[in-house]
Amino acid sequence: MTTPASHPASLSALPQLRTVFLDRDGVINRKLPEGEYCSSLDRFQLLPGVLPAIARLKSAGLRVIVITNQRGVALGKYTSATVRDIHAHLQAQLTALGAPVDAFYFCPHDKNSCDCRKPLPGMFHQALAAFPDITPASSLMVGDSFSDIDFGHRLNIPTIFIEGDPQHRKPGAEKAVAIATAITQDLPAAVALLLGN
Ligand SMILES: [Mg+2]
Ligand SMILES: [Zn+2]
Repeated sequence: MTTPASHPASLSALPQLRTVFLDRDGVINRKLPEGEYCSSLDRFQLLPGVLPAIARLKSAGLRVIVITNQRGVALGKYTSATVRDIHAHLQAQLTALGAPVDAFYFCPHDKNSCDCRKPLPGMFHQALAAFPDITPASSLMVGDSFSDIDFGHRLNIPTIFIEGDPQHRKPGAEKAVAIATAITQDLPAAVALLLGN
């Protein structure tokens, strides 16, 4: 793990942690090349170790909520029904492990047309409506884009930036690194940071 100098060295100092918000593409499943979309179930490819990592979070008593921008719906690349099918498929696998996530929320809108496309806070408020005990201080946001880290930053939610392959840094990675609470290579490493190896 690497940590920006100005941020806490570890997240073990999150004693109140109760809810983990997970981005989807690039965190749970392989992110497709820029301009391509996860437009069908066969394009949804889980990243290594993700199912057991989510199961660890659930076993630790944490709430897990997936929040994902799906602008491809607004662009007509696929429908909201496809997004729901993909989430049902993921949830079935997690349920088989005894670890269903607590909720999925997605933004199907285009840029600048809603209040729920991350980094805007709409999906946090949707989750809050369903789980009124959620607070920023008891939450964590895990994501692989600046928009995820900015979402957390704006809401005062601690963040873990999923860096992926440092040799192939994404646009916005520098900005994300600068404001993230912590940085890990992937979701299993983030969970190890939170819960120990
Ligand atoms: Mg992502
Ligand atoms: Zn939206």
